[in-house]
Amino acid sequence: MRIGRGPEPSDNQPRISTTPWPNMQTSGPFDKTPGWLDWFSGPAKPRFQVPTGAVDAHCHVFGPGAEFPYAPERKYTPCDASKHQLYALRDHLGFERNVVVQATCHGADNRAMVDALTSSNGKARGVATVKRTVTDTELQAMHDAGVRGVRFNFVKRLVDFTPKDELMEIATRIQAWGWHVVIYFEAVDLPELWDFFTALPTTVVVDHMGRPDVSKPMNGDDFGPEFELFLKFMRQHPNVWSKVSCPERLSVTGPKALNGEQNAYTDVIPFARRVVKEFPDRVLWGTDWPHPNLKDHMPDDGLLVDFIPHIASTAELQHKLLVANPMRLYWPEEVK
Ligand SMILES: [Zn+2]
Repeated sequence: MRIGRGPEPSDNQPRISTTPWPNMQTSGPFDKTPGWLDWFSGPAKPRFQVPTGAVDAHCHVFGPGAEFPYAPERKYTPCDASKHQLYALRDHLGFERNVVVQATCHGADNRAMVDALTSSNGKARGVATVKRTVTDTELQAMHDAGVRGVRFNFVKRLVDFTPKDELMEIATRIQAWGWHVVIYFEAVDLPELWDFFTALPTTVVVDHMGRPDVSKPMNGDDFGPEFELFLKFMRQHPNVWSKVSCPERLSVTGPKALNGEQNAYTDVIPFARRVVKEFPDRVLWGTDWPHPNLKDHMPDDGLLVDFIPHIASTAELQHKLLVANPMRLYWPEEVK
């Protein structure tokens, strides 16, 4: 695995645009996956004003392909989404910091993500994908760049299977740097992954509430066995956190965060509200920009920000979700 800055583009390479929201493209020798949905250009200004110091705790960069080639083992080829575009979005939405999560289209080549961190003036931290062959020197270099965790992906359509003993070995090694593990899985797979997840020795952050099936019938306060198992997972294990993001991925009935919609994804709200209410000190939120692999629609990120007060209804909950919690996890040295 290589880390650090890639080569500067020379004159005979395609130029990388540094203006926000240019024409959508995939640079370098790459063609977008047919049917790929490009990220939404020209997002609305959110009506909800995020608190001072807010962190977008889950987002990605894609390439640009000409500078940071997509990995040969990738399952999709996206539209480029550069660090410049990410930081322009951050400013537009009113956030101050980002947590950049390694995208699966880059495999375990973390250069694009690390480059985003080192260009952020300390305002971005990262989550990497590593293999067991990663060296301590490489881990230290990533730590110095701002990486604070590794991601294990169990969503089978996105990555090839990695043996659990390899993942446990990685989780054990990263403890020396105080890193945590981010896990991504689908609700139906939690029972079979339970023993592995609960044996992880670090803080564990679950992406997108473990992808609940929000179309399953609820009965009053009872969310049904799948989501109740997820709540039990968090309740019994104080080292487990959850991101309450990505309603656009989970929603079945919408309405979509488009065309000024202020009440988007109403079917996801009870699930996210429940997690925020019961575990207010262990929740994170992120845009998930540039929204890898969406199949149905591409949301307006400004309207996604307007979703936040529906799931965290008080200023205190919003501050925990957007400032206090991500700061404690990613910038603990700045928290008194
Ligand atoms: Zn994501």
